[in-house]
Amino acid sequence: LVSRKWKVGKTQVDLGDGVVIGDGSLSLMAGPCSIETEAQVHATIEHLVNNGVRIMRGGVFKPRSSPYAFRGLGIDGLKMWYTQARQAGIKIISEVMQVSQIAEMHDYVDVFQVGARNTQNFNLLDELGKVDKAVMIKRGISGTIEELLYSAEYVFAAGNEELILCERGIRTYEKASRNTMDINAIPILKEKTHLPVVADPSHGIGIREFVAPVALATVMAGADGVIYETHQEPEKAASDGQQTLDFEESARLISQLRKAHALL
Ligand code: PEP
Ligand code: MN
Repeated sequence: LVSRKWKVGKTQVDLGDGVVIGDGSLSLMAGPCSIETEAQVHATIEHLVNNGVRIMRGGVFKPRSSPYAFRGLGIDGLKMWYTQARQAGIKIISEVMQVSQIAEMHDYVDVFQVGARNTQNFNLLDELGKVDKAVMIKRGISGTIEELLYSAEYVFAAGNEELILCERGIRTYEKASRNTMDINAIPILKEKTHLPVVADPSHGIGIREFVAPVALATVMAGADGVIYETHQEPEKAASDGQQTLDFEESARLISQLRKAHALL
């Protein structure tokens, strides 16, 4: 069902208020790794609005390698974020980690994010197939392109066609970067599926200084959008500060990405 053999034309994911992913425009989604405070959300929304970005990312349920690391504000954090985002006309994408969170998050998100650690959580995918909200599925940590497509197939087959795929780098033998951003996956996915494909250079390379060049490469490779991490004070971020852009770097990247996309 997610194959181009099944559907002629491209899937466009319409989030309302003129925010559409996969319509040929460049979709930008930016925000912190984790939602932390009201002031942080306020500052981020202001930054996004000033730069014409309509979708904010942020985790309230965080999959952390160590159980002692910050694991997110939970549902109260999401509600606080939602209140501010709605007023500013900003759409919300946030990670859902388990089936029980779908119902509690439902009214406060525009896109459910399935993280790389849950790409093959098939029960979660089944349940997201029954939801009337968009879903973005990240490529698994060591997942193949085919496995990502099968994960999308679960959601689509269960009835939800509002789907976005995300290349976020894979684990390889290379240790100079956090992950290996698989630029190849972008044109390959675009050829195999009618679904929009976005790229996450923050997790893809994991090094702040190199997020911009990798982000630009993904746009030239045909990505429908870019999702990346930004924070008013990256060195103080509760998670992933090492790969997070400050607002100045983020504003520069936004303008570069738009120029790159205009060349296509
Ligand atoms: C995230 O987006 O903050 C995240 C945890 O990403 P991933 O699932 O790709 O590791
Ligand atoms: Mn992160």
